[in-house]
Amino acid sequence: MQCPECGATHIRKNGKRKGKQNHICVACGRQFIDAYEPHRGYSDEIRRECLKLYTNGPGFRAVERVKGVHRTTVITWVKQVGKRLPNAYAPETTPEVGELDELETFVGSKKTKSGSGQPLTTSKRGF
Ligand SMILES: [Zn+2]
Repeated sequence: MQCPECGATHIRKNGKRKGKQNHICVACGRQFIDAYEPHRGYSDEIRRECLKLYTNGPGFRAVERVKGVHRTTVITWVKQVGKRLPNAYAPETTPEVGELDELETFVGSKKTKSGSGQPLTTSKRGF
């Protein structure tokens, strides 16, 4: 089990809340109910790709859109990696930007058009 806040695995039981087991993170004091498993369903490869995408700069929401991994999960990964390798994942050190520009353009061109509201032309009636 891991802390959803800092990713630490040093968790203690902290009584029950409404019948559910409550936990507290020893590292940061965050309390949470039930297990939180950010790794669930994702391979190391996906994780690495997400981290790489993130460090290339487009941000969590872009990673979520491209890889289908929720940004909370990515944030958790980034925090874990950042703790282990403080300097390895600074955005400036990995300048490989691939197809992301094209993707951004594509998404940008799909923006919804604003609806044409009905003109209000009844203001002078009855004068
Ligand atoms: Zn914690």
